[in-house]
Amino acid sequence: MQETSEGLVYGSSTAPNDSRVCPYCQKSFYLPKDLVRHVRTHTGEKPFTCTLCVYAASRKNHLKKHCAKEHLMSSDEFERIAKRLFGHLVS
Ligand SMILES: [Zn+2]
Ligand SMILES: [Zn+2]
Repeated sequence: MQETSEGLVYGSSTAPNDSRVCPYCQKSFYLPKDLVRHVRTHTGEKPFTCTLCVYAASRKNHLKKHCAKEHLMSSDEFERIAKRLFGHLVS
């Protein structure tokens, strides 16, 4: 009897060869910054804090909407502040 184990693993072991895979749910992302953003949905991290109240958001865009609605902040003004405060963060 001849055993041919070849073929058994065919197609079933496509290990992702990049590191842009979520450690929590194994979802993969095209861009590293998308992964960073996604992981925050698991960790609940909200690095974007409002300078005018206690609001905090996980995404810059959410904070931007908040500032526009609650503080009537213009987009330009927000971007200026955001650049200074969150320039080091992935939006
Ligand atoms: Zn995930
Ligand atoms: Zn606010």
